[in-house]
Amino acid sequence: MANDCVFCKIIRKEVPTQPIHEDHDLLAFPDISPIAPVHVLVVPKEHMVNLNEAGVKDVPVLGRMLRLAARIANEMGVAETGYRVVINNGDEGGQLVPHLHLHLIGGKALDQKLG
Ligand code: 5GP
Ligand code: ZN
Repeated sequence: MANDCVFCKIIRKEVPTQPIHEDHDLLAFPDISPIAPVHVLVVPKEHMVNLNEAGVKDVPVLGRMLRLAARIANEMGVAETGYRVVINNGDEGGQLVPHLHLHLIGGKALDQKLG
């Protein structure tokens, strides 16, 4: 946990959100500024800045993040139409919030061009 991290505050319920899924390891909630009809963030409850800090011990939780994204995509009705899963890492990767998170984006045709 990092005291001044906004996602840690959401995890600690100090900042409100509408959880889509919560379990021992993970929290999923809507992005506050959605770029598509479906825009969900999946975050590990353990604070790590990004994939640079993820070690071998974190492999199971990284896998669960992907599985949860696929499950939420299915529950939100975009599994068949398609969706994108993105993890931004660091400044040039476009990361604004320094707590590892996965974006699940769908519900419209996304630009094929990345970056
Ligand atoms: P990044 O650029 O770090 O990959 O994406 C951070 C995302 O977090 C952005 O899409 C932004 O809209 C979202 N975000 C930032 N602050 C909050 C917040 O307080 N609540 C929620 N739900 N989303 C946030
Ligand atoms: Zn954090």
